Amino acid sequence: SGDARVAGIAASIRVIPDFPKPGIMFQDITTLLLDPNAFRDTIDLFVERYKDQGITVVAGVEARGFIFGPPIALAIGAKFVPLRKPKKLPGEVISEEYSLEYGTDKIEMHVGAVEASDRALVVDDLIATGGTLCAAVKLLERVGAKVVECACVIELPELKGRDKLGDRPVFVLVKAD
Ligand code: AMP
Repeated sequence: SGDARVAGIAASIRVIPDFPKPGIMFQDITTLLLDPNAFRDTIDLFVERYKDQGITVVAGVEARGFIFGPPIALAIGAKFVPLRKPKKLPGEVISEEYSLEYGTDKIEMHVGAVEASDRALVVDDLIATGGTLCAAVKLLERVGAKVVECACVIELPELKGRDKLGDRPVFVLVKAD
């Protein structure tokens, strides 16, 4: 993006090598949160993009989608729906399994939180392989919602995560390598 704010956002993200295990370059957004200008610019850029797209629900992926999703939802007048790790949501849920490097994981959504008439934005901090976002999109589409776009602060383009999402557009602020 040519927006000058993006450079400040990128500079505020700390990279920690070999966390949580050797070979992983961990993109740490907690340092972005320590910089009020960078945090505000992040939310503003998303809000500017999504305010006039008729989005009725922002779905945030646990855990860092719970940081960026709610301020976007409030600013655009959409409801916020948390997509959670297994056994956290108390009501009736639907769930989607997805594969990790070793084994599988699962995310869940409350039944009744999203309707077929909803237009959804899915928010997470980062897209790597795309497995997490793909599972999130499936939850929303299973109840008939339209996923307008997925939005992340950071993309690791080498992992080609957006290929997993087919036609659903993915918008990111910062590409890391
Ligand atoms: P994926 O399902 O492979 O696209 O992984 C995305 C999820 O894993 C997101 O919720 C990220 O927070 C987390 N994640 C994966 N790789 C990294 C990384 N290098 N740095 C920080 N978070 C990561």
